[in-house]
Amino acid sequence: MTVETRSPEETFALGEKMGRQAVPGEILTLKGDLGTGKTVFTQGFARGLGIEEPVSSPTFTIVQVYGEGRLPFYHFDVYRIEDIDEMEEIGYEDCFYGEGVCLIEWAEKIEELLPGKRKSITIEKDLEQGFDFRKITIEEIEERESECGF
Ligand code: ADP
Ligand code: MG
Repeated sequence: MTVETRSPEETFALGEKMGRQAVPGEILTLKGDLGTGKTVFTQGFARGLGIEEPVSSPTFTIVQVYGEGRLPFYHFDVYRIEDIDEMEEIGYEDCFYGEGVCLIEWAEKIEELLPGKRKSITIEKDLEQGFDFRKITIEEIEERESECGF
């Protein structure tokens, strides 16, 4: 599914709608270059979960936990991860396989740890359509373990 937005407010509103619809155990990955609107989307998403406190990118920690909403919200930014062991150290499995909702920025850096079932969100600019235009692609991914073990 593709959604086109033409302002930060529209991207926030899309995030808010998806936050309202989020279910326990949901995992979302968020891809897009710097300045495309990942944080704007995440702020809307948090609002949709009923989180009132301000949400920004977790710069000095890999994950920021918000407990005040309808479901626990784990906001990951794995941009600075250098070794996959850092994910083990923060106990990511309790977040990924718990009752909360995970949103992971720069998820491509931890591809091998991602659960097979997840929602992938990609935000892209298209300057020909205007400076504030964003194309947001939402894909439901359902990878299965290979039957023969590869
Ligand atoms: P990222 O987290 O991807 O680096 P931010 O969400 O911090 O990006 O910033 C996105 C910037 O782009 C903000 O300054 C926002 O106002 C601006 N912007 C302009 N149009 C849009 C749009 N359609 N959707 C989201 N952000 C937009
Ligand atoms: Mg950001």
